[in-house]
Amino acid sequence: MFGSFPIARVFGTTVRIDLSWVLLVIGTAALWPGDPLAAVINLLLLFTLVTLHELGHTLAARYFKIEVLDITLWFLGGMARMREIPENPKVEAVVALAGPAVNFLLAALALPFLLASGIASMSDIAPNATATLAGLLANFILINLFMGASNLLPAFPMDGGRVFRALCGVFTDWLNATRIAAGVGKLFAAGLIVLGFVSRQWSIAAVGLFVWLAGSRELWAVRMRRMQQQMREQTFGGLGERAATFTPVETEEPAGSGTKTDPSGDDPSGARRPSDNPLAQGRALDDEAVRRLEQFRGSIRKPRDSQD
Ligand SMILES: [Zn+2]
Repeated sequence: MFGSFPIARVFGTTVRIDLSWVLLVIGTAALWPGDPLAAVINLLLLFTLVTLHELGHTLAARYFKIEVLDITLWFLGGMARMREIPENPKVEAVVALAGPAVNFLLAALALPFLLASGIASMSDIAPNATATLAGLLANFILINLFMGASNLLPAFPMDGGRVFRALCGVFTDWLNATRIAAGVGKLFAAGLIVLGFVSRQWSIAAVGLFVWLAGSRELWAVRMRRMQQQMREQTFGGLGERAATFTPVETEEPAGSGTKTDPSGDDPSGARRPSDNPLAQGRALDDEAVRRLEQFRGSIRKPRDSQD
């Protein structure tokens, strides 16, 4: 990404253009072999369809109350930046599928118009012929089908790869699921890079490189989140959330964790308490517990509903 600027607001989301997209437009217009008008129409079409694809992701994310920061178009496509997608297979799959779903829906909607436009057969239409209405419609359908299908390749972090991670996430934890999806994504990425070099289609190699790097970055992000979580748990850890409330009330313990009546019990109610909870036993906090409390940042008082 070389820096971007906003150009429009659609459904409350800012659409931004990356400078790499501007370079792509200039390059395409300069190198286009045929009619320059056809180049402009094709680019506008591509621009619109990428935006609509990203809007599909955006609206699905909003449905799940995920904040979408903006949509950026750059030379490899579009990107809807979201605040934080929950680690939830269903949410991940729905948000990922919504983009390609828009493309397939648009292609299906355009098909009757193409058939009604009076073409004799599909072979009458060249993919790039945008001079006629039939040509434009055919182009519209082909771009949508290509965009929908290519994004569904299981090349994490592309849409298909996200769906694949969601599927893995049903059977294993999120970090593992991401590891598997990123691994498969890198196989695809390596394939694309090799294909790009062999066929001298540098844009294919660039997509491969992007998939490789973006997949690694996402895996790293999930790892970091997991590490932060573990650190929080370690700091808070053995003390237990309930003990940290400083309210020595009855505590229901998970089964088999040794819930006993306090043997030294001077408690007339005979309440069942966890034997290893210093607070519940009326003992002072030991040094280790104090150290943990000192290191713990955040609210240590959890609202409790008990009045007694
Ligand atoms: Zn997508």
